[in-house]
Amino acid sequence: MPKISVRQRQLIRREALSPEECDRASQLIARRLTQLPEYLAARTVALYSPIRNEVDISALLPAALGAGKRVVFPRVRDAEIDFLVVTSLAQLLPGRFGVAEPLAGEVVAVAQIDLLVVPGVAFDGSGHRLGYGKGYYDRVLARLKKQTAVGVAYRVQLVDALPTEEHDQRLNVLVTEETIQRFPD
Ligand code: ADP
Ligand code: MG
Repeated sequence: MPKISVRQRQLIRREALSPEECDRASQLIARRLTQLPEYLAARTVALYSPIRNEVDISALLPAALGAGKRVVFPRVRDAEIDFLVVTSLAQLLPGRFGVAEPLAGEVVAVAQIDLLVVPGVAFDGSGHRLGYGKGYYDRVLARLKKQTAVGVAYRVQLVDALPTEEHDQRLNVLVTEETIQRFPD
């Protein structure tokens, strides 16, 4: 099945979830995420603001700051994403694509991000990920070296095997409300 069909079908599945289902699962996912050794060890963590029923882990911000971490959120600039330091969710305002983004703040290089939390439309059992079709996170993931990329997803977003292309990047870990999967290199 081509990417576009999987994307359509999986977006419909995710958007059919109720706010209560999303909240409940997002809380479980956030809890699992914060128990990962890579999260505990991370100095700089990249979160994101959810749209269209994406898993919401943005509420981790205060706890991460309290644990002494630096937290960055994405801001779209042309074909790239910049990551800016955020110290309060109030600093996030709707930008391109309706995503709440930091308006201002220190830009942190991708090389400085220890743990990158990655949203997506669909994920498979090999660490592959499908986004909205613009490749933003593929371009960021391609620049990671030893850092950890953690996908977060509801169980309904999991599929058997995603169609992939050369440029598609894999995740290191995938956290759902029910499971933690690790993908060796
Ligand atoms: P998504 O990952 O958002 O589902 P795709 O994987 O279909 O989207 O990628 C969308 C576009 O992004 C592709 O046409 C691809 O050429 C471009 N792209 C992805 N990764 C890179 C990269 N590392 N460098 C340049 N272009 C890229
Ligand atoms: Mg891709």
